[in-house]
Amino acid sequence: MSTPVEQSVASLLRPEVRALSAYHVPDSRGLLKLDAMENPYSWPATFVDEWLERLRTADPNRYPDPACESLKASLKATHHIPAAAELMLGNGSDEIIQILLMALRPGATVMAPEPTFVMYRQISASLGLKFVGIPLAQDDFALDAERFSEAVTTHQPDIIFLAYPNNPTGNLFDRSVVEQVIRMAKGLVIVDEAYAAYASDTLMGELCRYDNLLVMRTLSKLGLAGLRLGYLAGPQPWIHEFDKVRLPYNINVLTQISALFALEQHDMFVGQVAAILRDRAALMADLSQIERVRVYPSEANFVLLRLLRHDATTVFTNLKQRGILIKNLHPQGGALTQCLRVTVGTPEQNQQFLTAFRAELSAGH
Ligand SMILES: *Cc1c(COP(=O)(O)O)cnc(C)c1O
Repeated sequence: MSTPVEQSVASLLRPEVRALSAYHVPDSRGLLKLDAMENPYSWPATFVDEWLERLRTADPNRYPDPACESLKASLKATHHIPAAAELMLGNGSDEIIQILLMALRPGATVMAPEPTFVMYRQISASLGLKFVGIPLAQDDFALDAERFSEAVTTHQPDIIFLAYPNNPTGNLFDRSVVEQVIRMAKGLVIVDEAYAAYASDTLMGELCRYDNLLVMRTLSKLGLAGLRLGYLAGPQPWIHEFDKVRLPYNINVLTQISALFALEQHDMFVGQVAAILRDRAALMADLSQIERVRVYPSEANFVLLRLLRHDATTVFTNLKQRGILIKNLHPQGGALTQCLRVTVGTPEQNQQFLTAFRAELSAGH
């Protein structure tokens, strides 16, 4: 028997919303957090003081600058965004994905290779859009040119998301295949460069050479996940329209001031990224010494692993018991069967993970 409120919920809300499960964020209290691709380094005390000084200039009683002009100018300069491109900012790139999809016609088709970032599918579902996932190559998660272009021809997607590098697999797709998809697609292609700081390639330089290409980035994985700031760069006519769907004050005053301050600390971030890249290489080298574990190549600040003999869920649960939180991808099934994803931490954190991981595997579950 359902209660009156349950009956109202059932009759008033769209069935696709009721069918969703909310995005699950695990409780990480007291755990070493290596599950969410956060930068492990905090700021030196002098920077924290300077930052807090800057925050004193905020007027919390006033609405923030709706256009974020100074922040956009700073992003354009520091991220080498082509002069011809326009920017739209989002409360994280998650919000940008939502804005993009809200602007499409009802019943539009969204396409992405899979496995990939789950929010493309999740937000499409919440808006009642059709989502078509095209499997990546089984062995190395490559974007298969023939299979993907065939799917584009068949489904004529209104929008395609290509995470470059891809999450959770960590690889960059073959750039010539990406450009082939951009050329053949009649719809929009969003190249999601959330991990640009850690990757050896970018499509940013191609902006405005293709009418249907937009590049999306976020400051989250670089080291500002708490601020929630992402951006979409591309031709003015697209940005102009998407900007109408964006809520007017989506970037709050604290984020605007803090991001502007952080972008001035360029050298600190360059140093942190260099350390993470160095430690990614060390972590991968150590992991590949472990038998019965497959380590996938990474262009991001995380490493994808497949357990060839052990049960990923058991290992994940036991690592958590030992105080280490990573991501268990096994429940997603398919190509991610027995897969785990670990974020690159500080050298000490990586050692802590490696020690516990080795102990778990030799415990022989
Ligand atoms: C983390 C991630 C995002 C979302 O980032 P936010 O800006 O924190 O919302 C988008 N795309 C990919 C591929 C990601 O891995």
